[in-house]
Amino acid sequence: MAKPGDRVKVVTKEGEIEGILMPNEETDSVVVKLDNGYNIGIDKKKVKKIDAVKKYSAKTEKKGKLSVNKKLPTISILHTGGTIASKVNYETGGVIAKFDPAELIGLFPELKEIANFDSRLIEQMFSEDMRFEHYKKIAGAVEKEVKKGVDGIIITHGTDTLAYSSAALAFVLERLNIPVILVGAQRSSDRGSSDAAMNLICASEFIAKTDFAGVGICMHEKPDDKNSVILPACKTRKMHTSRRDAFKAINDTPIAMINYDTRKIRFLRDYGKRSDSKLVIKEGFEDKIGLIKCHPNMFREQFDFFKGYKGLVIEGTGLGHAPVDPPQRLNINILESIKSLVKSGTIVVMTSQCLFGSTHPHVYTAAINLSKAGVVYCKDMLSETAFIKLSWLLGNYKDKEEIKRLIATDLRGEINPRIEPEQYLE
Ligand code: ASP
Repeated sequence: MAKPGDRVKVVTKEGEIEGILMPNEETDSVVVKLDNGYNIGIDKKKVKKIDAVKKYSAKTEKKGKLSVNKKLPTISILHTGGTIASKVNYETGGVIAKFDPAELIGLFPELKEIANFDSRLIEQMFSEDMRFEHYKKIAGAVEKEVKKGVDGIIITHGTDTLAYSSAALAFVLERLNIPVILVGAQRSSDRGSSDAAMNLICASEFIAKTDFAGVGICMHEKPDDKNSVILPACKTRKMHTSRRDAFKAINDTPIAMINYDTRKIRFLRDYGKRSDSKLVIKEGFEDKIGLIKCHPNMFREQFDFFKGYKGLVIEGTGLGHAPVDPPQRLNINILESIKSLVKSGTIVVMTSQCLFGSTHPHVYTAAINLSKAGVVYCKDMLSETAFIKLSWLLGNYKDKEEIKRLIATDLRGEINPRIEPEQYLE
């Protein structure tokens, strides 16, 4: 019997199709990768038989040739791993982070019509394992490519912490004068249902055809295959565990939309344009940063835990509240704990777990007391972005007062001074 990875001949009433059998438990189709690189789905009901022509062998996998067309722009792909750079291990059936760069390009032959691709392997990891040192490594690789004079960079990345990385890179890469687009996929690249090809192709078209400069994210707009969107680096969140349109702009709008069929690109708002500015790398990150989510029934020990930390993000309730008000004695203790953190030099900042809307330090007593205690309100900044930004500020600036001023100042589009009503769930 034919197994995924085998070269097969699928016989149907309409004729025969030859290619590599792909794993596909999700639909009622037999998926075959054709020799031109495209996947085709054949309704299982129509299949008469599947003959194995050649058994799978790890050594027979194709690699893409990187030829150069001087009329096309150059894009570098920096691989960090994740599902987009994973494939099904035909022997075990599991997904492994295992693509080498040329192989990924070989999988999507269409890419070669858009640009010349060069690629480098930075990591082969799942993004939940990322640490600040990886942000430095990626930023260093971006700097090298910028110096080479490439027209744009695609960073292939796991989706789980992709939005943390995009925020980190937006802060580190000051005065970036080319597009750096992070691309992920919710299904591995060699599956029939993968979103990898469309996101990669749309990101490449966006880099090749527009004057955008800065960091962005390219993922599906909706679960269908109509459009991919370019999302803002510091205001995007993974909002669904499995949908292809998991990434959404929060308190913001996507920057641009790319139609996959027509390849037409439409900007949806103002954006940073390419210039001859010189890239400055500010790659410091402070390790001792905490992030705590407020909830009912808290104890002061939860806050005391962060003694010695240089920064703490409190993801408060509502407009930015922690349980600090009487009559509960336990709550007064929490306020005492936060006060003593601030006194000992920890920079404590506030975001909201509502996600949409802005925090406000002057409406309710809890927030008034917290801001009196020295907690800095981060307006509408996402907690994840505040966590990255606070670490980055502490890693690059010395003066604590300046850090407190900068955390609440918009540096890379992380604060939206005018949240529009339509910047909310549809
Ligand atoms: N856990 C994986 C990661 O973030 C999921 C993915 O790649 O999309 O690396």
